[in-house]
Amino acid sequence: MARASVVIVGGGIAGLAAAWELTGGAHGPNEQTPRVELIEAGDHLGGALVTTEFAGRTIDLGADGFLARRPEGVALVKELGWEDRLEAINVSGSSIWLRGALYELPTGLVLGMPTSASVLKSLKGLSWRAKLAARRDEWFPRRMVVGDDATIGDIVRTKLGSELSYQFIEPMIGGIQAGRIDDLSAKSVFPALLEAARKGGSLMKAIRPKGPVNPGPAAPTTSAGPLFYSLLDGMGSLPIELARQLSERGVVIRTGVSVTALRRTPSGTYPWEVDTSTTTTPADAIVVATPASVAGRLLGDYDSAFTPLRDIPCAGAAMVTFDLSRTEIELPTNGTGVLVPLGTKWSGEGSMLITAITFLDRKWPRLARENDTVLRAHVGRIDDARWTELSDEELTARVTNELKVLLPKFGTVTASRVQRWPQGLPQYYVGHDILIEAAKGAATRLHVALAGMVYDGVGVPASVGSGRRAAREVLDFVKS
Ligand SMILES: Cc1cc2nc3c(=O)[nH]c(=O)nc-3n(C[C@H](O)[C@H](O)[C@H](O)COP(=O)(O)OP(=O)(O)OC[C@H]3O[C@@H](n4cnc5c(N)ncnc54)[C@H](O)[C@@H]3O)c2cc1C
Repeated sequence: MARASVVIVGGGIAGLAAAWELTGGAHGPNEQTPRVELIEAGDHLGGALVTTEFAGRTIDLGADGFLARRPEGVALVKELGWEDRLEAINVSGSSIWLRGALYELPTGLVLGMPTSASVLKSLKGLSWRAKLAARRDEWFPRRMVVGDDATIGDIVRTKLGSELSYQFIEPMIGGIQAGRIDDLSAKSVFPALLEAARKGGSLMKAIRPKGPVNPGPAAPTTSAGPLFYSLLDGMGSLPIELARQLSERGVVIRTGVSVTALRRTPSGTYPWEVDTSTTTTPADAIVVATPASVAGRLLGDYDSAFTPLRDIPCAGAAMVTFDLSRTEIELPTNGTGVLVPLGTKWSGEGSMLITAITFLDRKWPRLARENDTVLRAHVGRIDDARWTELSDEELTARVTNELKVLLPKFGTVTASRVQRWPQGLPQYYVGHDILIEAAKGAATRLHVALAGMVYDGVGVPASVGSGRRAAREVLDFVKS
């Protein structure tokens, strides 16, 4: 019998992980392994996993690490034989900019949520009203009826008041997806929060961990070891190594080629044909591992359940990386960075653009040097695209001025670099789970599997898990 043919559309980490699983995962290919062709529109594989040389180091331009407690990322690295290339995060903790000064974040938070009023007691940047709101949640919790889903903002605002919600919780939880807590679905982004709200009573008491915390939708957890990992040559080395090993397994990888159409050919030998501008590949089944808007466009003619995929909003972002001599900069004593609440006023024009700062060489030991330091500033949220109106020079100048306010000392810069991510991160709004289930169901009926950060959670481990799940679905299709 001829080998089945599977085409993967999209060579981000989800598409690559799908190819890994389709070709046997940890065990490698066997006689039942399908022929796999992966087609990527961009000139490099891995999407937001990409490195560059900067100030004598290899730095990441997008994702710079991944959560160790969702197992899918670590498992893939180990299967590639790269366990010894895992680099554990060096230090923990962060500071937050509150009412014109930096404060160290307290311990005792669960994914950004305080777990008791006493956790916040020593945080001088919060008003007495905010601390009273936390105490009230412990002693006289506000009543709230929560249905199938609610926004994160609805829950935390009702239970803990506005200041804690927008000044403290949003910079952490909203930052993960560059979204607003008033829009993000608790069910899809922070299921433990929804469960805690449903229990009634104190939200903070209900969220206190009894065991490891679930870091995302339907995610298994591990609790031992560091919280985050990177790789010794940066996260951008992961797609490169995956592609190398996939080529050895016989996977055909094409970059710089867009898939223009997925055509059903029910009367042909193969049920699908995958078109690019110059080629057509016949396929028994397809993994669509593109951003949701592209999946919606490619599949929209086959089922109305795909149409909403086109309209899932995405938050673009930009990162400005700086190198400075150690004599030119002073950082907070501890932690890997700074969080800045949205709408923070400063002496300059409008509110601050910066949402977070990462001290790259504190976070990752491989980047540390004796004489200079590298950090990056993050800008952009779903409702703040001001960075798109500025040239690289203007953005660097603006961010530099804000850093002079936010950090104890920020002097002469030796080098800088702007990286823009216009497509950015999909927003999981209330109802996201319903539209995704409908799209996945429609895809299954067509022998197509959907993979990527819009379906099973945002982040490298979630995307790896998503790709591997999609591949297992496809293996079932081609068996049946
Ligand atoms: C700026 C930024 C920082 C991040 N930081 C972190 C972090 O520190 N830690 C973490 O865990 N996660 C982080 N993430 C999230 C993480 O990077 C993503 O979850 C993950 O990389 C998404 O992978 P994916 O394969 O699902 O999607 P993508 O990487 O978007 O892959 C989709 C691919 O499809 C391709 N494509 C599109 N259209 C077509 C077409 N017509 N034909 C063929 N190919 C097509 C695209 O070119 C793209 O390569 C970050 C994301 C961003 C944007």
